[in-house]
Amino acid sequence: AAVSAGGERSCIHSSRLGEQTHRRLQLEHDLRFALQRNELQVVYQQQRVDEDEIHGAEALLRWHHPQLGLIPPNEFIALAEESGLILPIGDWVIEQACLQVRSWNDEFRRIVVAVNVSVRQLSDPRFVERVERIVKRAGVEPSLLEFELTETLLMDNFDVARQTMVQLQSLGIRFAIDDFGTGHSSLAYLSQLPFDVLKIDHSFVSQLPTNHDYCKITKAILHLAQNLGLTVVAEGVEKIEQHRWLKQHGCDLTQGYFHGRPVTVPEFCQLLSNESIATEVS
Ligand code: C2E
Ligand code: MG
Ligand code: MG
Ligand code: MG
Repeated sequence: AAVSAGGERSCIHSSRLGEQTHRRLQLEHDLRFALQRNELQVVYQQQRVDEDEIHGAEALLRWHHPQLGLIPPNEFIALAEESGLILPIGDWVIEQACLQVRSWNDEFRRIVVAVNVSVRQLSDPRFVERVERIVKRAGVEPSLLEFELTETLLMDNFDVARQTMVQLQSLGIRFAIDDFGTGHSSLAYLSQLPFDVLKIDHSFVSQLPTNHDYCKITKAILHLAQNLGLTVVAEGVEKIEQHRWLKQHGCDLTQGYFHGRPVTVPEFCQLLSNESIATEVS
């Protein structure tokens, strides 16, 4: 329709397409230098047991582009995957998260960190070796580290993914299924992979507790996950009613704007420090 709509409209349409292509090409090009130019940053979002207790943090990548400003990961992770840059960038994120969680565990108390790992990283033949080295150098207990994988690409790389997971798990690293419910794979199929944690996607959580169908589906997911011995994290929890409903139905952890947005390292330190002050007072 846009094309047949005549001169003016198709012109706007194609110039917008041109802009998009140009932006993509620029990002693709600039991403190669982002790491060495210190444009990447890891922010952390709390995962909570309840309103008083932080369980851990999810590491989320940010790119501060010098001209284009903040680029969301949904825009540049795919580019990093296509170009192979996800390997050095991914290693860097894992390293940052390891150093950070080591320091939090030294300074405060036991807290775990979750890192998003692309299947592209998992299928790299030297991934296990590099992770082992990063973990050793950071002096972090591997059981404090959790790798989040989305189900989509996992199924196309089932055998190699499983092998890598088993090797990393023998080091003590844990695995989470991210965005559960958005893909096509059944829990029965996923249960053949050694997962420890299941993260219920925010698209389910956002419908709670008013949409009864979604409530039923979420209950079923919780039930299945519990029977499989998986820890359940709900993501995208924005409202107290959602948090309450999830806790009432046995969800182990919640994550989302209700508890807090992803924040920088100093801000996260402040959260942990406030928490230790609160316990001293009570
Ligand atoms: P994800 O792993 O599912 O991360 C959760 C996303 O939901 C994050 O977006 C987070 O900021 C956002 N979020 C958290 N709480 C709420 C909430 O209450 N409401 C809503 N609407 N959103 C919430 P972000 O940081 O933009 O990351 C998007 C995706 O990019 C991530 O989804 C993950 O798949 C990917 N990603 C981020 N960092 C990395 C990384 O270091 N490596 C890889 N491979 N992927 C990454
Ligand atoms: Mg994630
Ligand atoms: Mg997710
Ligand atoms: Mg996601």
